[in-house]
Amino acid sequence: MAIRRVSGGEWNGKNKIYKRAYMRPRPASDLFRFLQSSRPGLLQSYHFIPRSLFSHRKTSCNVIPHFSAVLSPTTTPTRMSSTQAIIASVYSVSVSTPQHPSSSPEDAVNKSHHLKNGKGFANPWPSWRDLDPVKALKAVARHRMGPDSAGIWGPSTTPPAVPVVTPQFLQTRSTSSTEFRATWLGHACFYVEFPGGFRVLFDPVFSERCSPVQFMGPKRYTKMPCDIADIPVVDIVVISHNHYDHLDHNTVIKLKKHHPDAWYFVPLGNKAWFACSGIEKCIELDWWEERDIVLTPSNSRTPAGASPSTDSNEPPPRVQTEPAEEGPKTNGIVARIGCLPCQHTSNRGLTDRGATLWASWSIESGGKKVYFGGDTGYRAVPPDLPKSVDDYGEEFRDLPVCPVFKQIGGLRGPFDVGLIPIGAYMPRWVMSPMHANPFDAVRIFVDTKCKKALGIHWGTFVLTDEPVLEPPRLLKEALGKEGIEKEGVFDVLNIGETREY
Ligand SMILES: [Zn+2]
Ligand SMILES: [Zn+2]
Repeated sequence: MAIRRVSGGEWNGKNKIYKRAYMRPRPASDLFRFLQSSRPGLLQSYHFIPRSLFSHRKTSCNVIPHFSAVLSPTTTPTRMSSTQAIIASVYSVSVSTPQHPSSSPEDAVNKSHHLKNGKGFANPWPSWRDLDPVKALKAVARHRMGPDSAGIWGPSTTPPAVPVVTPQFLQTRSTSSTEFRATWLGHACFYVEFPGGFRVLFDPVFSERCSPVQFMGPKRYTKMPCDIADIPVVDIVVISHNHYDHLDHNTVIKLKKHHPDAWYFVPLGNKAWFACSGIEKCIELDWWEERDIVLTPSNSRTPAGASPSTDSNEPPPRVQTEPAEEGPKTNGIVARIGCLPCQHTSNRGLTDRGATLWASWSIESGGKKVYFGGDTGYRAVPPDLPKSVDDYGEEFRDLPVCPVFKQIGGLRGPFDVGLIPIGAYMPRWVMSPMHANPFDAVRIFVDTKCKKALGIHWGTFVLTDEPVLEPPRLLKEALGKEGIEKEGVFDVLNIGETREY
């Protein structure tokens, strides 16, 4: 069949669809946008890629219907996993602003993390230090050649690494269930099953690489424990920020296919990206904002993973994003989600640093409350500090710490479980403003008033220079230093493993 080039892509002239091969590089990013503007010749063949797809700016998304229409017939058939045979009730979803919100700090109204020019966000605390990306790269290169380095090519991923097991998800969503389960699906991704049936997926990345493209970038060195199709139910997907190791376009497209009714909760400025990815059920929140979610059972039943909205006999889900008149109903599954601060940044390209917000999150449902730390730093240690120097030593006692974790603990805690990052911290002085090491993580655990915790943000992708099995080892050391039991309080799991509380 003759293919002729038309403006905006390739056209086969008959079926009026874009040639499939040209859709493959769709996880393009703002990096492409940058390259398109600065090196147009380099990416000529990608010219059709909707620029708005990866932009934080509110741009037109009118190319997206083509994008979606092409994807459906060309994606591989749904893999029927055992869990998809489960019969699950159909729920309609209601999202509302709480009539009686939880406490927030008095200064939250100042929005000191919003840039004055309205073009992004910043960490408004002395515990933050912004480092020029070029200086950071130079520092990493220097570190790799120095005595504290794990090697010029970065840390070894030669096995043994983190064991991977097949996850055992609950096979039904019983609203009378009292089980509270958290399953680590690698890196920052956790699947949480609340008592009463609410199901949450945090920061899902189910691609081989966390990168704008799948032919280069950090590649996972531990296997994916399962496929998205294996997860029985996803009510909401919670995203901490837009870095590629937390927000992956391929994954979002797969989620849309297998869990079309899932709602997405994202920090401010990220909704446009989801709209351009074909996701309309997306709510973006600012720090300290909350929403109540009510899942109300309808009468019919459908295979799990199928969309009730695709059944013409079913009324479409009722969605309410304004304050509810009567508050949350109590005859369904009820949850409250809160967007909370953390110390980090964001970007998907070279020119959009800080353009969208980053966040940690709290979710309460069925009498249990989870804190998801996402990606965060705790304090900025002085430049060029050698690894041999303890930055929690007496000399650094007055180093400012990020104050929000104590606020979170005091105003929104205690939490039954914290999912707290422990990895991606070397070179320490470069990474410390934005990535907690295990010593920081234990302080965050204490500040946020988590009763138990599990380590995230390690064991999956090499992002920084620490040895891949060092985070859990240092975590035990850090717990001991704080006088906390080394087992059973703040633990790590195998990838795919579930911990019940
Ligand atoms: Zn990040
Ligand atoms: Zn990260």
